[in-house]
Amino acid sequence: MRRERFKLLLKENLLTLLTITGVIGGIALGIGLREIPAEGGKWTPREVAYINFVGDIFLRMLKALILPLIITSLISAVGCLDLSLSGKIGGRAVLYYITTTIMAVILGIILVVTIQPGKGAEATSTEVTGETRNVTTTDTLLDLVRNMFPPNLVQACLQQFQTVLVPPKHNPHEQDLNLWSVSGKYTDGMNIIGLVVAAIVFGIALSSLKEEVQVVLKFFQQLSHTVMKVTGWVIWLSPLGVLFLITAKLLEMDDLGVVFGKLGLYFAVTAGGILFHGFVILPSILFILTRKNPARFIANMGQAIATAFGTSSSSATLPVTMQCLEEKNHIDPRVSRFVLPIGATINMDGTALYEAVAAIFIAQLRGLPLSFGDIVAISITATAASIGAAGIPQAGLVTLVMVLDTVGLPAEDVSLIIAVDWLLDRFRTVVNVLGDSFGAAIVAHYSQKELAAIPPREEAQKVPRNSMGNSAETVLFEERL
Ligand code: ASP
Repeated sequence: MRRERFKLLLKENLLTLLTITGVIGGIALGIGLREIPAEGGKWTPREVAYINFVGDIFLRMLKALILPLIITSLISAVGCLDLSLSGKIGGRAVLYYITTTIMAVILGIILVVTIQPGKGAEATSTEVTGETRNVTTTDTLLDLVRNMFPPNLVQACLQQFQTVLVPPKHNPHEQDLNLWSVSGKYTDGMNIIGLVVAAIVFGIALSSLKEEVQVVLKFFQQLSHTVMKVTGWVIWLSPLGVLFLITAKLLEMDDLGVVFGKLGLYFAVTAGGILFHGFVILPSILFILTRKNPARFIANMGQAIATAFGTSSSSATLPVTMQCLEEKNHIDPRVSRFVLPIGATINMDGTALYEAVAAIFIAQLRGLPLSFGDIVAISITATAASIGAAGIPQAGLVTLVMVLDTVGLPAEDVSLIIAVDWLLDRFRTVVNVLGDSFGAAIVAHYSQKELAAIPPREEAQKVPRNSMGNSAETVLFEERL
């Protein structure tokens, strides 16, 4: 038994070690391979796509897990708690999310206002890839709320709603957006926030119907368990996956030296702030509130950190985050499966800090003086923009338009920082994922007593040990859920 446990421990840590090696290997390989094409030459997009192949397969597998994971984990976690307890756990999670996001924004503002990276920097913009949208902040916020209530759940798995503003026919060059007419369209991309809300509501209904719907609840619990099993397999691809994702990204980039030369200080301030928040402030909060060892906690999240860095997506990392949190940090699955999917959708400390820094940096670059009121407005919209950003690569850059809008800067100005955004995005995704994980641990700590008071459900107890070839731990975990 002891040898078994030792082997299991080695197996788990070996994978984390391999994934971190994958990240480092990817960076080394990417930088090394950039030198291969002849002087001044570049890898062609086709070659980069081939190199990215394994990474792409890994990403596709992770993405495939998002939908089943979110739905089953939320329904089963909320369904097995009674209403007042779900309310308490949800309330604690939201309190944590809001407090830490505001702290991140304040830290960002302090850094960018004191260091002033935008003073004296050159305002050279890079081509904006993709369309820039003409929208007002109110429209973006209203879309967020609209998307919480999808009219069609099947469509919500594929598309989300977006307001579009159309210029008046008689004056297509009208500058005042208030005079544009408003219509809506559905754009591609899963409406995760809508599915989260629907799953919570469904879970609440199950929990209030109690005994009548035990079979349905059991169905979702076992489905959730099955999805986690598949996640466990996919994770084995992460060392290779992140290696190829990072290598391909580095090969695709323009001259790295030139890019960082221009935006170096902005990059350093943002990345420094994000890392300080994620690796100093949040761990201190964890320690103060729970007395858990933050270093060990972070080390146990290594796999998720590396995956977040490799994929730039907190949604795609969600399966790995859940696995690390439950299996390694031993957080109660009733809490992790409840608060993690919500956190991955709305709690983004790294993004919030970045939104504030980026907007103020651009204002400094443009020589726009900011009043105290402007700074307050920026901090509020930066918080909202981080909530509205999806957990996908560079979503923060899109919602930044909203923050720029509050101080009267045009949407096109995002092009000023686009060159380093791919890398900053990786840092903010890491901290977004870490923030959710610390949050789950803190909420689990404060909910410990209430959760312990719930007797294990009868049916779960009847599951014979190892009936499905599961280890004792898995059966125990089923009982808790
Ligand atoms: N990529 C980030 C995430 O998935 C969002 C962002 O662009 O800041 O968490």
